Amino acid sequence: MAKIVLDAGHGGTDPGAVGNGLEEKKVVLDIAKKVRDILNSSYNGASVQMTRDTDKTVSLQARTDQANAWGADTFVSIHINAGGGTGYEDYIYPGLSGTSNSAKMRNSIHTEVTKVLSKYGIRNRGKKEANFHVLRETKMGAVLLETLFIDTVADANLIKNATYINDISKAYADGIAKALDLSGGGNEPGDGTTYTVQTGDTLSAIALRFNTTVEVLVALNNLSDPNTIYVGQVLIISASSGTQMVIVKVDNLSVRSRPSWDASAIAGTVNKGEAFTIVRKLPVDDAEMYELKSGLYITASPVYVDVKNV
Ligand SMILES: [Zn+2]
Repeated sequence: MAKIVLDAGHGGTDPGAVGNGLEEKKVVLDIAKKVRDILNSSYNGASVQMTRDTDKTVSLQARTDQANAWGADTFVSIHINAGGGTGYEDYIYPGLSGTSNSAKMRNSIHTEVTKVLSKYGIRNRGKKEANFHVLRETKMGAVLLETLFIDTVADANLIKNATYINDISKAYADGIAKALDLSGGGNEPGDGTTYTVQTGDTLSAIALRFNTTVEVLVALNNLSDPNTIYVGQVLIISASSGTQMVIVKVDNLSVRSRPSWDASAIAGTVNKGEAFTIVRKLPVDDAEMYELKSGLYITASPVYVDVKNV
């Protein structure tokens, strides 16, 4: 078994960075739990410990003591950045060689994360070094990941986007698994468009594994209650045969972080010719919006957008 310590930064009396209605300690705990669940459900040979799995105060010393006492193979510390920048960066202890366990783990995670950065147009701030306690006092390879800036509005909107959190969590888990040569990952049960429910499954675990959301699975399968799935049930995971894209017809069209026409929901603008995969159409007040695969929402009015079957 590969012993993996996942370290959700801060917690308890220490909220970490705060901004835009978010607290770092909550976001990083959410991500760390998802990484743990993906490692446990999609890979073989992972033995995972968390330095905290609730909102409690844990000293830096206690975190590294735990990993050293257990004889962990790797230590992955998960944080959210602050200070007015934007993007992703990751850290190892200064002066380590490129073949060190820390560098190998960092490079593997960085490669997986880069795919998520390009999907969302997020800036890659690069591979960095720092003399942080958790990097210095751990006896095993150790990395510290800083995804997005909690005090930057565009970054905070992504942090609030469940699909982004699933994507970055999966990238972390896949990067860890590849660095440790864990098997699994590519061998999902089912053929990718349907999945047969197995003992112990929950809809939220299935959603996480297939990088979708409970809401999408409920809609695709006409489930009246997300708790009613049963072993042997065949669920539609993605409607790949009938996938639709929305094509933008005008410049400066708003995309929204939630299904609301309120100005506070605007997450950015898109321009004529841009295309996005539609997850579903939903009524919003007396008009309609499309939920996009990115987790954002856009008007469904044919004045502003066309729809194309792909
Ligand atoms: Zn932090």
